[in-house]
Amino acid sequence: MPFTVKPRSTTRLLLPLLLLLPVFACGYVAFIASEQAGIDRLAETGERQLELNARAVESEISKYIYLPSLLELDDGIRRLLNAPDDLEQQRQVNRYLQGLNERGGSLAVYVLDRAGQVVATSNWLAPDSYMGEDLSFRPYYQEAIAGLPGRFYGIGSTRGEAGYYLAHGLADAQGHIYGVAVVKVRLDTLEERWSRAQVKAYISDENGVIILSSDPAMRLKSLRPLSLATRERLANSQQYSWWRLDELRLRARDSLGDGLEQVRYDSGLPDPVASDVDYLSQSLQLDDTPWHLTLLTPLQEVRRNALSNAMLAAAACALLIVLLIVWNQRRKVITTRLDAREALERANRELELRIDVRTADLCATNERLKAEIRERLQAEQTLRMAQDELVRAGKLAVIGQMSTNLAHEINQPLAALRTLSANAVRFLQRGAIDTASANLESISELVDRVGKITGSLRAFARGTDDTGHAQLHTAIETSLLMLHPRLETVRPLIERDYDQVELPIDQTRLEQILVNLIANALDAVREQQAPRLWLTGRQRGDEYAVEVRDNGPGVPPQARDHLFELFYTTKPGDAGLGLGLTLSASLAAAANGTLTVTHPPEGGAAFVLTLPRSTQCSSPDSRAS
Ligand code: ADP
Repeated sequence: MPFTVKPRSTTRLLLPLLLLLPVFACGYVAFIASEQAGIDRLAETGERQLELNARAVESEISKYIYLPSLLELDDGIRRLLNAPDDLEQQRQVNRYLQGLNERGGSLAVYVLDRAGQVVATSNWLAPDSYMGEDLSFRPYYQEAIAGLPGRFYGIGSTRGEAGYYLAHGLADAQGHIYGVAVVKVRLDTLEERWSRAQVKAYISDENGVIILSSDPAMRLKSLRPLSLATRERLANSQQYSWWRLDELRLRARDSLGDGLEQVRYDSGLPDPVASDVDYLSQSLQLDDTPWHLTLLTPLQEVRRNALSNAMLAAAACALLIVLLIVWNQRRKVITTRLDAREALERANRELELRIDVRTADLCATNERLKAEIRERLQAEQTLRMAQDELVRAGKLAVIGQMSTNLAHEINQPLAALRTLSANAVRFLQRGAIDTASANLESISELVDRVGKITGSLRAFARGTDDTGHAQLHTAIETSLLMLHPRLETVRPLIERDYDQVELPIDQTRLEQILVNLIANALDAVREQQAPRLWLTGRQRGDEYAVEVRDNGPGVPPQARDHLFELFYTTKPGDAGLGLGLTLSASLAAAANGTLTVTHPPEGGAAFVLTLPRSTQCSSPDSRAS
């Protein structure tokens, strides 16, 4: 897989480098400009200093320039040169030269004969006196004897002392040269002066050899390679005695124009400590000599200043860049914030718009819901009214149904009452008091029974609410009493197994439910050979279940889903209205209970009324037969 760099990360890598670039560029430009300005300043100062020093050298030399020629005026010297063996004359001249030398402050003053031999000298008393020495090999002698001004810097062949030789050919009135006068001048005072003034300078002669230097290490070093011929010539003249004249090696040399040079000397030179220092080198040709005065100004300070300026410029540039970056970042942040605010405002506007739309929708939905609620309430009201109507209708139906039976039921006792009362009257007339009283008892019982029947009916028809309490066994008793005529007809075996409990339902409503259930059970078992009814009650958790079971044919499967539907009946003709179960279920629900049907495997149907438990139960009170 080829290595790829994402443009973004490349930019991230390059960015710091790109930012560093102007910093370095600034620093570099500042360094170059500052260095150039520093060099220019140094060059200007150096030029003045060079001029001053050159004049100082020239004046040092010019102090003695006439001295040799003055000796031409001295007769004693001329006499000595004409008669070299005159020892007295020689002593006088020696003394004269000695005095001259001491007063002039030169190194030595001496006179050579035409052959180049020293005939008189200021140091005639010194053990290493020049006296008698043959100096004809010295160039200054050769120049002077030829009538030219002898100028020569060299190291003394006797004492090895460096000095500047000024020679003059002593000539008589006819121009005939009869000897040479020489003054050896000390120039090392210049070096001392340079050292005191902390000036780095040197003087190089016509051979390119450094003859005077503020730095002793540079002394008698050649600035350029010396050819073999030159070396031989120098050896012959013993100008530099036996010095090796090593070449002063430069590590670097750059021309800066206008006679300016930047030089760096090899280690150890000129100053071991500052061997790595670059110098600004300025040279000037001295008057009256073939010498060059060179001034060396260290560039260390200039460089240091340039470096400081460069660092300052780089820092300023970096600061500027940082400020620019900060400004840019701030601008970006502000732009981003403005964008974000704008986006937020836009989103807000959109949101408000949506909210408006949604609010309108919600309002419409709300209105719809309100309308629906109103409709539902209306429907509920209608339903409740229908339910009430149903209850009333159910009651009326039951009452209607019962009234027939009731009439039959009451008619029978009434007929019996009529017969019994007539018989009682007759028995009383006959004086059969016992029989008459027995008849009256029967009459009383029959009246009680009729009273009970009508009482139940009244209670059934009375308006009720859902908050009453019912005694289960009373309700069962009342129901059975109300259904007495039909029980008499069907004569089922009734098994009773329930508790004496109080249930949270109106007494009449419970009786109404039980009358419906038992009446249906009686209808179901009417055709059975051995009709049976089970009336049971069981505690089931927090509820109490009352079951009315029969051994009739049961509910046919196709009818099972419709039992609790209004007006559903399987009974022929006027026998059924299809109200009983619907009404009973509705009454049970109103009392927070349920009415369900089960189909026992052994046959028949079992209707179970479940109601919440209200009071403690006791042991079963009865078992019907
Ligand atoms: P109705 O008695 O006037 O028909 P109900 O609502 O009381 O109305 O009863 C509806 C129907 O439920 C009855 O027609 C009958 O088919 C069926 N049913 C009710 N109780 C029993 C039962 N114990 N055994 C068999 N079928 C029953």
